[in-house]
Amino acid sequence: MTQEEVFKNLTAHCKEYGFIFQSSEIYDGLSAVYDYGQLGVELKNNIKKYWWDSMVRLHENIVGIDSAIFMHPKVWEASGHVGAFNDPLIDNKDSKKRYRADVLIEDYLAKLEEKMNKEVEKGRKRFGDAFNEEQFRATNPNVLRSKAQYDAIHARMVKALNDNDLNEMRQIIVDAEIACPISGTKNWTEVRQFNLMFSTQLGNISGEDGTIYLRPETAQGIFVNFLNVQKTGRMKIPFGIAQIGKAFRNEIVARQFIFRMREFEQMEMQFFVQPGSEMEWFKKWKELRLNWHKAMGLGDEKYRFHDHDKLAHYANAATDIEFEFPFGFKELEGIHSRTDFDLGNHQRVSGRKIQYFDPEKNESYVPYVVETSIGLDRCFLAILSSAYKEEALENGETRVVLSIPAELAPVKAAVLPLVKKDGLPEKAQEIMDMLKFDYNCQYDEKDSIGKRYRRQDAIGTPFCITVDHDSLVDNKVTIRYRDTMEQERVDISSLKAVIAEKVDLVNLLKKI
Ligand code: ATP
Repeated sequence: MTQEEVFKNLTAHCKEYGFIFQSSEIYDGLSAVYDYGQLGVELKNNIKKYWWDSMVRLHENIVGIDSAIFMHPKVWEASGHVGAFNDPLIDNKDSKKRYRADVLIEDYLAKLEEKMNKEVEKGRKRFGDAFNEEQFRATNPNVLRSKAQYDAIHARMVKALNDNDLNEMRQIIVDAEIACPISGTKNWTEVRQFNLMFSTQLGNISGEDGTIYLRPETAQGIFVNFLNVQKTGRMKIPFGIAQIGKAFRNEIVARQFIFRMREFEQMEMQFFVQPGSEMEWFKKWKELRLNWHKAMGLGDEKYRFHDHDKLAHYANAATDIEFEFPFGFKELEGIHSRTDFDLGNHQRVSGRKIQYFDPEKNESYVPYVVETSIGLDRCFLAILSSAYKEEALENGETRVVLSIPAELAPVKAAVLPLVKKDGLPEKAQEIMDMLKFDYNCQYDEKDSIGKRYRRQDAIGTPFCITVDHDSLVDNKVTIRYRDTMEQERVDISSLKAVIAEKVDLVNLLKKI
């Protein structure tokens, strides 16, 4: 089976078993928005707890907050999102396809360049050893014509981008006779600036612009609360603030299931450090975060660092932790050294002093920040895509099993009476009542035991506990293990301990 087919099956599996549903499905869905079902929400909550505990409980100098999604509009001016979180968009009226105007022009320039290079290669063949490329480029009429076209369009594009001149962007596309690669027509709409932030209105104060935004990242809620937390928590640098929450981006091209959504969840931690020490912390957080991922046991070879080739203007170091999804290595988490860009800008725009008084140095400064930012939904997808297996069994049947790390599995144990009579359901319910305070368990008495095992394999339940007639006499049950399918007879009184050994989150936390 190709990776593409596996991914398709996984997507269908997520729906069939109540992990993920398309949003508003009965109305044909809403593009790139998803709902988490009864099992999805359990897995998601377990991932959140794993991340939260690894940050807030394991580090005495990291605390958590939960800031609002709506923030003062000035926040997004200071952060640069209002001005720079934009793409210039154009639609082809026939194919209804949407493009970035600058990318269309760049593709056209690349074609001109290719044309010139071909002409040069022709000349090289014709003149052999006597070929002088410089002279050829300076005199050949075909090359000169393309070069003049290239220079003119390039100069116009740079100017239009710098001047933010959208009409001129469109005119360039018209003048260069650029056609839509799908429809082949030149029937273009106007160029519009497309900001990736969703906006809405606050209240209805007439005459006033009450535009506010749905946050495109959770980080700004941390920056604006820096002083609140530092002062009330008596935090000393270095220290961190962690947060889990929703973020919204009006992505132009949203695809690949929950990999790129318009509403998603981030788990971010901003670590405030003394200027000059940021590279040391950047290195440390890279290592710690990779360990966090590896502890889940999805396969060490599935992760790699990808350093950014081009740094954002505010960053002095940035790397992505990439994961090998079924569609290739893609960003799962970003680790950025953001200098004092955000706190500095909030200080400037708000007019408030946002500084830390360092008692050891006896001076005040704007701290530097190293951030770790992971998409919760992408982490969910990483876990499910490596857990999903279609296994051929010895008896010729196949089973679908989700080998989700036991600590994160949505259901920890299933309690199954062998038959629906003779007091077995009552005994099974007693076991449910004993376990339910500690673990999310399922009771299932329908269908053959084999079918029930398959159902639990398919949702990743690490343990099936079967109650049979002997259980009524000897107070023992059969435990079946998901991954090995091995079975073992254990005392009911030892069940809790057997389960705890495998599913306790502490197991993962200790591995980091
Ligand atoms: P990409 O390059 O994939 O668009 P990004 O570099 O814009 O991502 P960041 O702004 O660094 O992403 O956000 C941090 C993390 O948030 C990402 O590593 C990713 O896991 C998650 N994330 C970002 N955009 C989305 C999205 N549209 N859907 C789901 N998760 C997202």
